[in-house]
This record gives sequence, structure tokens and C-alpha cells, in this order.
Amino acid sequence: MKELIFASHNKGKIKELKEILAPFGIKILSAEDLDLPDVEETGKTFLENAIIKASTIAELKNMPVLADDSGLCVDALDGRPGVYSARYAPNRDFDKAMDKLLDEMTHSSNSSRRAHFSCVLALCLKNGQNICFEGRVEGTIALQKSGVGGFGFDPLFIPDGYDKTFAELGSDIKNKISHRAHALEKLKTYIQEKGI
Ligand code: IMP
Repeated sequence: MKELIFASHNKGKIKELKEILAPFGIKILSAEDLDLPDVEETGKTFLENAIIKASTIAELKNMPVLADDSGLCVDALDGRPGVYSARYAPNRDFDKAMDKLLDEMTHSSNSSRRAHFSCVLALCLKNGQNICFEGRVEGTIALQKSGVGGFGFDPLFIPDGYDKTFAELGSDIKNKISHRAHALEKLKTYIQEKGI
């Protein structure tokens, strides 16, 4: 069985990836199984950060590594919080982060409520080559927080085609239409065709 390191500490993402890649005979090793260092996200784009994480760990472990980076980009805030989504609120308090986002939007001269979530997966192969897959979901920022499901900014994000937030829609729907689902779909197609 082939082994692939997933450079993430997020239990939800690890479980999802293990389920997706199990039929391909690929065993996922994660930060839960290996002593992986936290790699500093010094990039200015999701792509740069995903590549930095995947290639740093691949060099360290001499194995193929998958890493991801994702975040929320709001039109009225010129794409912020973007790559700084996880660090947008003190102590990762997303309730405060969402209040801060709504407040900043109220004070913006741009009244658009359009936004998107972006996710980039970087697969660093043993030869050092990086292959990247991007997924996006477009939507709007709600006037107030609704719902208890999901994580991060989910209670504020209404995906196009729905009238509820990700936090209200629940994981069954979210995992079919999310930025991460789209990126994982592309990864799955690549692995089906080329392997790792
Ligand atoms: P990371 O890719 O796990 O570092 O996530 C970056 C940050 O982007 C998270 O801490 C959240 O603030 C935000 N984010 C990324 N994906 C989602 C999502 O699916 N729902 C809500 N927030 C998200």
C-alpha cells in the first residue's frame, strides 16, 4: 500500500481525505501519526502557502506529501481576510472574527456582499515536483450569523443557489459543494489517472 503524508492537524480534514483515498490503496499518515512540525505560512497566496507546507515536509520526510491552505475572500474588503483567515481573530475566536468581519463590511465604501471560499491542495511528489488543485465556492455574506454546524466563517457564508448559511446547511451538503470538495475532486481525478 502506498503512503501519503497529509500535513494537517485538522481531524475533520484528515478523516475526509482518508475516506476519499482509501479506495485507491493509499494510506494517509497525518500529524496524528507522525511528529510533524508546524510550518510557518509565510506566503502571500493560498497556492504559495500550500506549496511551502507540502515541500517543507516532503524534504524532511522524503515521502510524498499533501498540504492545503484555504480561507474566505470578501469583495468589499478587497479579498480579505484571505490567507489571514485563520489569524483574523485573536485566539482563533471565530465568533469575534465574524463580528469583526461584519463591522468592517459596514464601514467599507463597497456595499457588495459577494465573497468566495478558496482552497488549494499541493501534492509534493518524491522527486520534489508540486502539483496543485484549486477549488472555489462563490456566495454572499449574510447580514448576521446563523446556524451551528461547520467551523470558522460558516455561519456567515451563504453559497450561491441556497438561502441558508453553510452552518445551517450541514456537512452533507457542504461537503458536496465546498471549495475543499472541489479541490479534492480534482486531486481524486489526478490520482485515479496518474497515481502518486
Ligand atoms: P486552514 O486552511 O485550515 O488553515 O483554514 C484557514 C481558515 O480559513 C480557517 O481557520 C477559517 O477561518 C477559514 N476557512 C477555511 N475553510 C473554511 C470553511 O470551510 N468554512 C469556514 N471557514 C473556513
